[in-house]
Amino acid sequence: MSDRSERQRCEDDDDIKIANKRLLEIQEHPESVISGKELERELERLSERPEPRELLCQMCGRDYPTWSADNDLWNAVMRGGVRGNADEYDFVCPTCFVLKAAGSRKP
Ligand SMILES: [Zn+2]
Repeated sequence: MSDRSERQRCEDDDDIKIANKRLLEIQEHPESVISGKELERELERLSERPEPRELLCQMCGRDYPTWSADNDLWNAVMRGGVRGNADEYDFVCPTCFVLKAAGSRKP
């Protein structure tokens, strides 16, 4: 067996040890397990994407000035025309909104 595969095996063993340790931690402290919104936020943080907030466009990632769209127009673009649907994006700049509106227009 070469040094390289030996080293790889050690790394695999380490991964297994880490996974087992984490499993044990979860069993001892199930309250520390995060899920749902909390997990989403954590994954967001790890992927280094900023948390959604007002005046930060979720489509292009740029700050934008305060603006508003007519409710019907917003619903048509962001909710597929159905008021009860969830917004596809909560915060978008006027530019992306217009681009999305143009893209979603039926031929
Ligand atoms: Zn944008």
